[in-house]
Amino acid sequence: MQEQARQIVRRLKDAGFDARWVGGCVRDALLGRTLKDIDIATDATPGDVRRIFGDVKFAGASFGVSLVHLGGHTFEVATFRRDGRYVDCRRPESVEYGTARQDALRRDFTINAIFLDPLTNEIFDPADGQGDIERRLIRTVREPRERFAEDALRLLRAIRFAARLDFAIEPRTWEALVELAPTIRAISPERIRDELTMMLVGEHPARAFALLDTSGLLALLLPEIAAMKGVEQGERYHPEGDVFVHTMLCIENVEPRTPVTCWAALLHDVGKPGTFARSADRITFYGHDAVGARIAEGILRRLRFSNDDIRRITAIVARHMRFMQAHDWNAATLRRFLSAETIHEDLAIHRADCLACHGKLANWEFVSGKLREFEESHEPVLPPPLLTGNDLIGLGYRPGPLFAEILASLQEEQLNGTLTSTEEARQFVAEKWPFETTS
Ligand code: ATP
Ligand code: MG
Repeated sequence: MQEQARQIVRRLKDAGFDARWVGGCVRDALLGRTLKDIDIATDATPGDVRRIFGDVKFAGASFGVSLVHLGGHTFEVATFRRDGRYVDCRRPESVEYGTARQDALRRDFTINAIFLDPLTNEIFDPADGQGDIERRLIRTVREPRERFAEDALRLLRAIRFAARLDFAIEPRTWEALVELAPTIRAISPERIRDELTMMLVGEHPARAFALLDTSGLLALLLPEIAAMKGVEQGERYHPEGDVFVHTMLCIENVEPRTPVTCWAALLHDVGKPGTFARSADRITFYGHDAVGARIAEGILRRLRFSNDDIRRITAIVARHMRFMQAHDWNAATLRRFLSAETIHEDLAIHRADCLACHGKLANWEFVSGKLREFEESHEPVLPPPLLTGNDLIGLGYRPGPLFAEILASLQEEQLNGTLTSTEEARQFVAEKWPFETTS
């Protein structure tokens, strides 16, 4: 990827234009981190870029961004620009082409405003981003109050970069961030969701949430999570502390780190604040799984998650306590539990949940061991039914509420291994539900 990105710069320069790498890739290169993607800035206009590279797509022609494909990679080639006046805390009224300096000064944070010429290794850094990398600081380019007022998404970006890189937020930047936290309301739920997801799946998510909390953003965006703070738990199972502390540990422990597992970890105990009860000898949260699933659904809808994500995440929240009884399940219950579409994520959350408190993994080992046995045996967890509704009609039963009861009972016996053939199933039905009781 780096070779192709160098080639693009070379071709632009050969055509007489200025071109350099800029933004996240330069920051990450200076920090010795792996580069995710390489953005190129140039004084060539999108029209020039098209003439030089032929087949390019315009990502946002009005923003001067072209997508150049080379060697299987796609690069954003953006014309230097300066932003016009910003309206409603989120977008510039107009965009005009400008100089490299103006392009640096419209960027959000100093560490994101460094240019690198990949052919000479020359750095252009008008906002002293290198100094802030050295000092490990997130600082806005120019006046923080103005920059956050221009675009409130930067409030979340500041926290995301501070957490991911483990940088401090420079005091004046932080002061403005706290002051302008309420302007986050101007940002669309989708963009907020995407920033929060990047914080959750990225490095140091607990640090991101601590910063969201102290800035006031957590109470504005996720009051249900802020409500976990100070909610005590029983010492015996939860030596780690309150529900918020436990949740943060759970997020840090969850593996693999996908949007679904990380949001499920964040939300698994969201029903606890509302179900807290203290008796003489202990603290309980009866029904917090079901209550939590409902609260989680509200949060996820508000943040415009897809129906598929909502279904999966709320199912995980609703199921997360079931592991406690795993040793008492019969074969049928176990197999039905293992057949859920979220079973791997259920296991991931349960494991992280245990590691975030008592650390005992006996139930996790039991259930994941059973799942592995099935996967290795190639025996389906849920085999095709011995009899279907149509078979029952063929046997002379009339469709009705009894059908579901019979089919459930047949599945129970089949999964427990007490019925193994269609013939046995027919006999079982005939004995248990003789015709006179059904008509
Ligand atoms: P990541 O590694 O998360 O992709 P990044 O720095 O590359 O980090 P992007 O969102 O990809 O971040 O944006 C690329 C660059 O565009 C940033 O480095 C920054 O210079 C600029 N930028 C992005 N969003 C904003 C914004 N809201 N306001 C000002 N500049 C921005
Ligand atoms: Mg990027």
